[in-house]
Amino acid sequence: MRKIVKNFASPPAKLTSPRCMTQMLNIYNSRIGKDATYYNMDPVVDALNKLYHSKCGYCEAQIDIVASENVEHYRPKGTVNSLDLPAGVAHPGYYWLSNEWSNLLISCPKCNQPGHKGTRFPIHRHNRRVSTPPTLSAAGQVVVASNSHLLPPLSREDPLILNPEFKEPGEHLKVIDSGELKPVHRSIYGAKTIEVCGLNRPPLIAARKKIIDRIVVQIEKRIESFTADVEPLTEGQFRRELDTVFDEITDRLDYKSTFTLVARMIIKNFDTLVLSKIDPIFHPIIRNQFDRYIDN
Ligand SMILES: [Zn+2]
Repeated sequence: MRKIVKNFASPPAKLTSPRCMTQMLNIYNSRIGKDATYYNMDPVVDALNKLYHSKCGYCEAQIDIVASENVEHYRPKGTVNSLDLPAGVAHPGYYWLSNEWSNLLISCPKCNQPGHKGTRFPIHRHNRRVSTPPTLSAAGQVVVASNSHLLPPLSREDPLILNPEFKEPGEHLKVIDSGELKPVHRSIYGAKTIEVCGLNRPPLIAARKKIIDRIVVQIEKRIESFTADVEPLTEGQFRRELDTVFDEITDRLDYKSTFTLVARMIIKNFDTLVLSKIDPIFHPIIRNQFDRYIDN
């Protein structure tokens, strides 16, 4: 997961069109979010895909190669899963946010399937959960601005699933040696997001581990050339070769790359994730070159 910068004040025109507003008024009255259609129209999906580079907002896997993206409602437009509600309490869903720009993100079908995010929406303090839409304007119209997550009443809710548009995921999630995600400092947001979205599914763990392992293998190959019996690399050449490996790490920070959190973690925890797997004799020179590379 990585932070996504979305301009909440500038939704795609489809979502503020008079026809969309009429649909929203009907949804407010009927309390049925499944009647919403504007959120799934091409200009909206295209705008979201552009922001997310066709990657899942939760797991950061590339979606469009093998599947169709889901336009995910962060606050579910249909009935909230009872797992997230006190016993005997029902919630109709946040149907009034079904075409709300700040409530839409892109998810892969696996993170969003029933059993994972689906219609889950756990929050802190159930008594702060919002269950009715804001009041209409004096003219009886939907007031789009009052659906903002930055303003009461929604801002009083404390959602436990990380939204990449609202919080910096790197403050709550980290990648460890095995490729698993773990919460940072026991972050409840990190822990709940991993659990609910299934972010430690075996293929995701394997994909993250593969990135770490590849960096280790690439460094080991340079060591082989540096210590070869025939025409070994000079120290200067070895250092330049190491830089090409470090380039690979920083290239993986690019928005278009998948699993960019792994690259961030490799840079932050280089000793633990990479150096610890390499012959200690080479630690000083590799560490020194890595520090030089990062400083530049
Ligand atoms: Zn996903």
